[in-house]
Amino acid sequence: MEIPREIRGLLEALMKLPGIGEKTAEDILHTLLTHTELRQELHARLGDLQGMGVCGVCGAWSRDNPCTFCTDPARENRLLVVPLPRDVWLFERTGYRGRYHVLGGLLSPLEGISAEDLRLESLRHRLISTSWREVILALGATFEADTTAAFLREYLQEHGVEVPLTRLGVGLPVGKTLDRLDLDTLREALINRKPLDSEEM
Ligand SMILES: [Zn+2]
Repeated sequence: MEIPREIRGLLEALMKLPGIGEKTAEDILHTLLTHTELRQELHARLGDLQGMGVCGVCGAWSRDNPCTFCTDPARENRLLVVPLPRDVWLFERTGYRGRYHVLGGLLSPLEGISAEDLRLESLRHRLISTSWREVILALGATFEADTTAAFLREYLQEHGVEVPLTRLGVGLPVGKTLDRLDLDTLREALINRKPLDSEEM
């Protein structure tokens, strides 16, 4: 039997989502066909994403530019440097209430991510134009995270940028990216942050 074109199109689109294989895509499709209200809700919610972009200052997902993380005067004068926009939400859930800088990834020769792909210029600009109480590197516990932290330290030194740099503390399971850590571990690592010193890198 021939599958209608619209159905096939939706199945193919669903399978582009992470973790969705053919079977799950079919399950979702049948749920959507059965539940009209859910379909309408999803349609509306997806529409809400129109106009979402990234903040030109910190790089977090936002409709406003600059975003509220950047403009809220009540936020602490600390800067948390994270790899991806989604990591910002992660730290908001830990109770952190400072500001953010999204790097746009981690250095990875395997994935072809080099220094030019990271938001370094804007980081440097922010570090010299504001006197930060602390700059926290929250990059995860992977090889790429360590490489990127070491690179950042050198990059800032080379450019004569002096800031109190710290990194997340012990307790981070080795090999994990931020989004694979549970909230308690993350909160603990944030509380137990330590100075980023050279011997450990
Ligand atoms: Zn922002």
